[in-house]
Amino acid sequence: MAERVWTIQELLTWTTDFFRTRGMETPRLDAEVLLAAVLGRDRMYLYVHFDEPLEPAELATFRGYVKERGAHVPMAYILGRREFMGLSFRVTRDTLIPRPDTEILAQFAVDTLCARAEAGAGELRFADIGTGTGAIALSVLHHTEGTRADAVDISPAAAAVAAENAAELGLTERIEVLTGDLTAPLLGRSYAMILSNPPYIPSADVKTLMEDVKAYEPHLALDGGADGLAVYRRLLRDAPDLLTEGGVIAVEVGIHEATDVAALMAAHPRIVRTKTLRDLAGIERVVVGETV
Ligand code: GLN
Repeated sequence: MAERVWTIQELLTWTTDFFRTRGMETPRLDAEVLLAAVLGRDRMYLYVHFDEPLEPAELATFRGYVKERGAHVPMAYILGRREFMGLSFRVTRDTLIPRPDTEILAQFAVDTLCARAEAGAGELRFADIGTGTGAIALSVLHHTEGTRADAVDISPAAAAVAAENAAELGLTERIEVLTGDLTAPLLGRSYAMILSNPPYIPSADVKTLMEDVKAYEPHLALDGGADGLAVYRRLLRDAPDLLTEGGVIAVEVGIHEATDVAALMAAHPRIVRTKTLRDLAGIERVVVGETV
């Protein structure tokens, strides 16, 4: 018996209803984005071709995507990509999905490095610790000149994704991707800036996260120990020693963590000043420390 033919409009209607019953937050949008990806088109195409039927192969791919999304697999893992700072990054289940919130940290780094470059600093080196997809390090490199980065991840699989993104973005010459625990692979090196978005969710809170996050994103990149601050304690004990004079360290923090993280930073003898940056929702999102 011939398979029934599905048009774009019929598929969008069916899939939107299905996603709604599964509790997705943006059922119509997800359906459109997945269908557009299967067809290799943008979403606008769908609206102009409502009556177009899908080829059997396209339908099979779309069904696979819908099944995954229905089970709350994040869109970025289904598509294998996520946009960050205007660039497209490959993401896999070995990497945290870059969040818009983290653009606060990346933009701070871009602005600070650009100001230093204009003030006549020579080549500026920075480190990104717990790089995941490489989104922070690579977007900062892309949006600055005369900068080089060392990017570290404890997960060899994540480091491989960061290296792949570096190659895709044509930045391989300006980045070294290392595998290891926090600053361990960087001992003996020095940096004008150190950046990190470490795992910071308190262990007990991980199970309260959205299904998409807790069931699919790597807990290694999320779980910050009993009080969420375990990784900052180790990072902020060691990382400021790697800063050059006038160096800056900036880390993303979770909700209600800024005061504690600023105190951990200020406890390091080389840190003379700290400040916090807020995100668009007014939440303290980044803590910055400066050396003399
Ligand atoms: N912002 C992420 C979340 O809320 C957590 C990222 C992290 O732990 N660094 O899911």
